[in-house]
Amino acid sequence: MDAVWMVLGALSAAAGGAFGWTFTEYALHNWAGHKGKGRNRFSKDHLRHHSKGDWFAPSQDKAKLAAMVAGTMLPVAMLAMGWLLGAAFTTGFMACYIGYEVLHRRLHTHPPKGRFGRWARKNHFHHHFCDPQVNHGVTTPIWDRVFGTHVTPQIIPVPERLAMVWLLDPATGDVHKDYSHDYRLVTREERRQQARRKKISAALATA
Ligand SMILES: [Zn+2]
Ligand SMILES: [Zn+2]
Repeated sequence: MDAVWMVLGALSAAAGGAFGWTFTEYALHNWAGHKGKGRNRFSKDHLRHHSKGDWFAPSQDKAKLAAMVAGTMLPVAMLAMGWLLGAAFTTGFMACYIGYEVLHRRLHTHPPKGRFGRWARKNHFHHHFCDPQVNHGVTTPIWDRVFGTHVTPQIIPVPERLAMVWLLDPATGDVHKDYSHDYRLVTREERRQQARRKKISAALATA
């Protein structure tokens, strides 16, 4: 019976760690990354990811940070919850942390497969191309819903310069027909015209 309770306890602690990651993901992205406005290293890297599209911080930096987080969390969690629960909590947290890193990269580099893949890409690219103040969660929308920053994406306008490789049909250079109900390409000329229109309406508003 003791063994059953130990397993149940460890599974609950691992689930707690996983849930803890989802909050960390939101907090890092929104409050450190965007509200940080380039004043911390994470924010600098994240804003660069936004402006370049397919740029990610070097993998060895990400691995070092992950090792540091695990190395700090494990002894603290073991001290607070005992060795088994502490190790399970840290494992749940780290598994989701690494899963997030893999998922985020794949959203940019690989086409969607299945419902979750389609949702995760639309949710994330709405954040990239429509409004960086919303949809901070990458693996789950739960904290965006809690903090009122969740928006259900419609058709996403993707700037030509930042278009994901998987989005485009190499034969036409336009959005692949499989994704045309979710995305549309915005050409440089269209962006120029939009900027011109914005300038004119701003000038009229102050006149
Ligand atoms: Zn991204
Ligand atoms: Zn962002």
